[in-house]
Amino acid sequence: MTLESFVTLGKKKIEESGIECADPMLHMKQILGAAISLDSLHFYSRWQEPLSETEIKLASDFLERRLKGEPFQYLVGYEWFWHSRFEVGPGVLIPRKETEHLVEELLKCRGPAKIKVGELGAGSGNIGISALLERPDWEWHGFEINPQSIPYLGKNVGELLPLDTKYLIHEGNFFDLSKEWAPFDVIVSNPPYIAASQVEKLSREVKSEPKLALVGGEEGTEILKHLVAASFQFLNPQGLFLTEIGSDQELKIIEILKQAGFKSAEVLKDYAGLPRIAKGIK
Ligand code: GLN
Repeated sequence: MTLESFVTLGKKKIEESGIECADPMLHMKQILGAAISLDSLHFYSRWQEPLSETEIKLASDFLERRLKGEPFQYLVGYEWFWHSRFEVGPGVLIPRKETEHLVEELLKCRGPAKIKVGELGAGSGNIGISALLERPDWEWHGFEINPQSIPYLGKNVGELLPLDTKYLIHEGNFFDLSKEWAPFDVIVSNPPYIAASQVEKLSREVKSEPKLALVGGEEGTEILKHLVAASFQFLNPQGLFLTEIGSDQELKIIEILKQAGFKSAEVLKDYAGLPRIAKGIK
């Protein structure tokens, strides 16, 4: 079977499968290219040539997994975030473009060179690693409760950060462990904030990601509420709290921040104009 016929057949299967895909032809080429490690130049020079047995096996395996709704990033094993390539796979949340706003806001932090930051839900390490690459004097405490995420977190920290960078990985529950490491100058998170009732409506791709990283309780804001209260307790005076939120949680989070005692509370919009980040100053 040639590359061309594999792609043509696969494209048809993608169209019939109902997976999330804007351009089935292009996507099929990406799947084949990733499966047999061919860049686009060599891909087209081999377009009419046959695939080897091994290549067919590799490509069919990738296609099969993708047709079942597994995200493309889990197949290739990485996703780009800020300026780095993060290793991901089943069991860890795939970093999202919109979360880069959190990094942008973090980097506006003025204050002592050695800021101490705590993060609920470090996942692949995307936020902390990106921030530390720009602010190597900061001390980062990444808390992660999902044991399946820990190997990715460890690998990304080890591979992307210079050896003397202070990224401390804490495996376990933020709410139990953070008091040992408090106080922090900054607490940041992209917490689980989807309502349990909305899970069924998510795409197959998102449903393949860990629920622990996505679902924030019955209403979606339960973990946010708990996080805000804990952050107020564990931040230094003037400390900064930053969190990603769902686009319909703007009013709710302002109320939560004010009730917890934050002296300033505001919500920032993303590039699509949607409420995306809540910011509180203690
Ligand atoms: N910090 C990671 C991210 O933003 C994981 C977040 C999470 O587990 N909810 O992608």
